[in-house]
Amino acid sequence: MVRGDMASKDTVDRRRALSPTACPRPFILDVVREPATGRDFPCPTCGAPAMTFDATSGGLVCPYCGHREAVDAAGPAPSERALEAGAALSRRDGASVASGDAHGFGVDVRTTECQTCGARVSFAGVDIATRCDFCGSTQVLEQASNRHLIRPESLVPFAVDAAAAGQLFRRWLAGLWFRPGDLKKRATLGEIAGVYVPYWTFDAAAESRWQAEAGHRYVTTEVVRRVVQGKEQLVEQQVQKIRWEPAAGHRADRYDDVLVVASRGLPKRIADGLRTFDTQRLQPYDPRFLAGWRAEEYAVGLEDGWREAEGRVRREQEARCARDVPGDTHRGLRVETRLGGRTYKHVLLPLWIATYRYGEKPYRFLVNGQTGEVKGEAPWSWPKILLALVAVVALALALMTTAGGR
Ligand SMILES: [Zn+2]
Ligand SMILES: [Zn+2]
Repeated sequence: MVRGDMASKDTVDRRRALSPTACPRPFILDVVREPATGRDFPCPTCGAPAMTFDATSGGLVCPYCGHREAVDAAGPAPSERALEAGAALSRRDGASVASGDAHGFGVDVRTTECQTCGARVSFAGVDIATRCDFCGSTQVLEQASNRHLIRPESLVPFAVDAAAAGQLFRRWLAGLWFRPGDLKKRATLGEIAGVYVPYWTFDAAAESRWQAEAGHRYVTTEVVRRVVQGKEQLVEQQVQKIRWEPAAGHRADRYDDVLVVASRGLPKRIADGLRTFDTQRLQPYDPRFLAGWRAEEYAVGLEDGWREAEGRVRREQEARCARDVPGDTHRGLRVETRLGGRTYKHVLLPLWIATYRYGEKPYRFLVNGQTGEVKGEAPWSWPKILLALVAVVALALALMTTAGGR
């Protein structure tokens, strides 16, 4: 892509101008305020420096004259890369960066690092934030962006805009149970930020061989001694037993798009709860999707990401083999899994991140920028919970009394 190459050369020059020392020290945002460097998405009609990507129309729009431009994702279709090649790529030094693509975001960005949660967020064609989108900390420093990072292969563009995200949040809040009655009215929504969050996706072919003892349950009749009315008698009795037989087998499975979150800012607990991303809708990466938006640099490297995916695939294979064992139960299952055809993609997925305040406390929530799914924290109403508990206990007591009186 011509545009990306030009931008990356431009970036080198500007970085040098910005930070004359070889190793730039981070500086505090409140002291140094550079204008947004976003000259990468100029409007062809009015010449305004920064068009932005519009989630509603899925194209670029000029905030000044309203000119619209489709983003025709020109790159090749999202393609997986061999894991081995990626590992080598991620280890390569800065020398290879100059030779062109596959590193960085492919566009001039400014990057900040949160000193509290460690999230590194890049801003394309938009002013940097002085508050961390992920944790709300104001301890945010500008850094040289890490242009050695593997470039995303693909992304899911934002389809939910800020207004819609706010509405989804309100609806989610109203649908919660056991919350304070004035929560919906008094919850004040802070700034809501659209961030492309980094993920790895992995594909692999798994071949498993397993051995186990398969257990078949059967019922037999045994004669036992029993004391009946003071006299010892022989009584027939049904006994359940298990017959164990050796068993073995093998199976082959394919895994497609195993998602591993590579974010530092998102707590894993929350990030893993977001399940509705549709990776079939990935589009080839194009820096224009980032125009006016934020993107987090990945903090979990390719090899660590693969280790997590591998663990998940192996556990899943063990579970599948366990289901393959014939009979009613099994013991001593041993599974050997070989993984081949391992490929990866680095992808960006869209998330709205925001905090709202209720009383003095901040609560965080996320809106999936593709599907509108909401995940978040909300205060509980203890009086309501107590009331519900009392009602349940009362109902149970009433039932017991009725049953007992019969
Ligand atoms: Zn314009
Ligand atoms: Zn933070």
